[in-house]
Amino acid sequence: MSSKTNPGKLIVFSAPSGSGKTTIVRHLLAQKELNLEFSISATSRVKRENEINTKDYYFLSTDDFKQHIKADRFLEWEEVYRDNFYGTLKTELERIWALGKHVIFDIDVSGGLRIKRKFPDETLAVFVKPPSIDELKIRLKKRQTETEDKINMRVAKASAELATSPLFDCIIENNILDTAQKKAYDIVSQFIN
Ligand code: 5GP
Repeated sequence: MSSKTNPGKLIVFSAPSGSGKTTIVRHLLAQKELNLEFSISATSRVKRENEINTKDYYFLSTDDFKQHIKADRFLEWEEVYRDNFYGTLKTELERIWALGKHVIFDIDVSGGLRIKRKFPDETLAVFVKPPSIDELKIRLKKRQTETEDKINMRVAKASAELATSPLFDCIIENNILDTAQKKAYDIVSQFIN
């Protein structure tokens, strides 16, 4: 492991669904000098057409997911939406640490704060804030990955998620993507160096 890049940090990006955190996380992953590796979560939700199993998520049946919960194999897990379980397997951290890289998470606010509580010194917890709830709804509709019902469920949850933002180490407002990406880069590179 190189001491220059100081591997072993945990970078958490959390936000209401549709805030653009995934785009920001992908941008950071493309900056090779940051030495980041994506934490692939497990989920019981249905795979979207453009997603790849073991790259975007480990897609599991609800039964398999519950088995992993029982066996205490998760670092954290949440039923983010009804019957849709998401969680970080402990083996995922071992995989990434063995590569000598920093871990970057794209997870919901409860999971993000749980990781911060478990590893307070090693974790940078970033909250990505959408310009407004209305804008969030517009973005989710444009994405065309969810039904109207599911969009409404995600928007309803967003207000509660926004209220947790002061608990994070920093907040990035995602009004202009380019500006948000630059700010994310600066914060992360400062934290890991
Ligand atoms: P999506 O269904 O849009 O991929 O994700 C829904 C929400 O679940 C997003 O906020 C996403 O960040 C969150 N999520 C993804 N993986 C995990 C995880 O491992 N743990 C938790 N707590 N949330 C996750």
